[in-house]
Amino acid sequence: MKIFLISIFTFMVLNAVELVEVKGIELDMRYASDHNFVGSKIDGYNKAKCLLTPQAYKALQDIESELNTQNLSLLIYDCYRPKRAVAHFVSWASDLNDTKMKKEFYPNVKKSELISRGYIASRSSHSRGSTVDLTIKQLDFGSPFDYFDFISHIKDKTVPKNAIDNRDYLQEIMDKHGFNGYSQEWWHFTLDDEPNKSEYLDIPID
Ligand SMILES: [Zn+2]
Repeated sequence: MKIFLISIFTFMVLNAVELVEVKGIELDMRYASDHNFVGSKIDGYNKAKCLLTPQAYKALQDIESELNTQNLSLLIYDCYRPKRAVAHFVSWASDLNDTKMKKEFYPNVKKSELISRGYIASRSSHSRGSTVDLTIKQLDFGSPFDYFDFISHIKDKTVPKNAIDNRDYLQEIMDKHGFNGYSQEWWHFTLDDEPNKSEYLDIPID
């Protein structure tokens, strides 16, 4: 029995996903506030903290240092996202009468199509701890964070030329430090060599 308990304990420790608090990079944790597409604080976001795996944090620190040499800096909107927050998004998406934030975040997309068009999913890479939503504070990217529309697609060419160039620059610097982008959202990145590729966590952010 003792051996059995020890082996369970070892299994849990070996499989524990480490998340650390990101410091020294500017945060605007939208889901811990009312300023997001739902219009209220999201389940699981009890504190406006950015938690990530140490590997993702280290890569972001390197990116921040490189940007700082050009008087630029990161602004982070979302990091690790508990599964209960993703469930909150999905249940909100099914309530078609609640369109409080439509004008700011999805004026051209029917709320009923947010899931089918890939803007809201029932599972998010953010719950694995190495995915982050961010911008470069000083640059214009042609659409705001969480603006659900084709103009937020990385390769959209209807945004102004400087926004196209800025998107290329952001994708390039993130790629250089090991992050992959997401075609429909210029602000969303996942560490390619993420330490936890399969576990979707539901620890609240406290
Ligand atoms: Zn994201």
